[in-house]
Amino acid sequence: MPGSNYKRKRIVSFPRMGNIHIPICALLKEMNAEIILAPPNNKQALTIGTRYSPETMCLPYKMNLGNYIQALDQGANILLMFQAPGTCRLGNYAKMAEMKLKELGYDFEMIVFDLYGGKFKEIVNKFSRATDNKSITRAVKGIKICLAKFNALDKIEKELFYLRPREKNFGEAEKIYNKGRNLINKAQNTGEVKAAVDQTMAEYKQVYIDKSKEILRIYLTGEFFVLLDPFVNMDIEKELGRLGAEVDRQIMLSEWMGQSLIPKWLRKKETHKERATRTAKRYMTRIIGGECIESVGDAVYAAEKKLDGVVHATPFNCIPEIMSQCILPHISRKEEIPVISLLVDEHTGKAGLITRLEAFIDLMNRNRREFRHCEPKTPADVC
Ligand code: SF4
Repeated sequence: MPGSNYKRKRIVSFPRMGNIHIPICALLKEMNAEIILAPPNNKQALTIGTRYSPETMCLPYKMNLGNYIQALDQGANILLMFQAPGTCRLGNYAKMAEMKLKELGYDFEMIVFDLYGGKFKEIVNKFSRATDNKSITRAVKGIKICLAKFNALDKIEKELFYLRPREKNFGEAEKIYNKGRNLINKAQNTGEVKAAVDQTMAEYKQVYIDKSKEILRIYLTGEFFVLLDPFVNMDIEKELGRLGAEVDRQIMLSEWMGQSLIPKWLRKKETHKERATRTAKRYMTRIIGGECIESVGDAVYAAEKKLDGVVHATPFNCIPEIMSQCILPHISRKEEIPVISLLVDEHTGKAGLITRLEAFIDLMNRNRREFRHCEPKTPADVC
């Protein structure tokens, strides 16, 4: 039922997306916030969100709205939302959700963070407002542990990408990863975060892998939310690993945080967006919102690096990714790399997704065999 207690006690919530709650909760807890989160993304949240969203709205909005309603029903009264400027619907998410929730009778305050346009000081101020904690020292300490957790989560996940297709007992590395993720979640300071990563990496070393196994290498790209939430992408990375493919993905939480929070002059290396903008140049010359330029640039990059294929995952009806879907078949032909686009919405079934992935893996295996068969033995022996 709609609550009306936010003036008495501030109870913070924000939408779910993969592991994002771990570092964000660390920051909020450092600022003494009381937090209520919706359960990890699931069918129920999607059904609730879909019920109150325009039909053609993209899937991340529907999930976010479902999460907000679940959290408000449990007593949350401060809702956080991250926003980025651009030409897609993300710029309208917060306003639309706020209007719908007020229309439904909920009593809350919405605090919106403009990650790309907002200044560091403004972000700190907004966290202070959300938590009613004015201590800059706590905020800075919180941001430090938050960034450490972002990096730690990505580090153990990247190793999982390597182990999944090679391990003898499928699922063993996943158990270690889940344990490591819990340790990172519980860590109280950056020292404990580092210890959690070290322990996880040491345990990974015990996983029995087949180093001689022939592995396909796939670049996974597409829309941010779909890539980072395993419920929404139906565990696509796990399924690819089960099918014997190693996933390479640059859209990661730490990368996103780094490029939105760290000023350009302080960055030591090219960001993912900068690299994608460079590699996409032959096909696209300007950023049009969402992760469109990343999808285009990543496909070209994967071809340059001689990967076996590209899996492009995106919400149905995503405005920027509609553009990349039109360009990707052209890249596939010109750069000679197989590309598959997988669209998800509330009607997508996992069985259909797996069937398409299996067919794609077969295609790449065949490509490999044909390439080997055609490999010239002498300069004149060209297939
Ligand atoms: S990138 Fe696509 S899915 Fe994400 S908010 Fe924009 S339109 Fe929606």
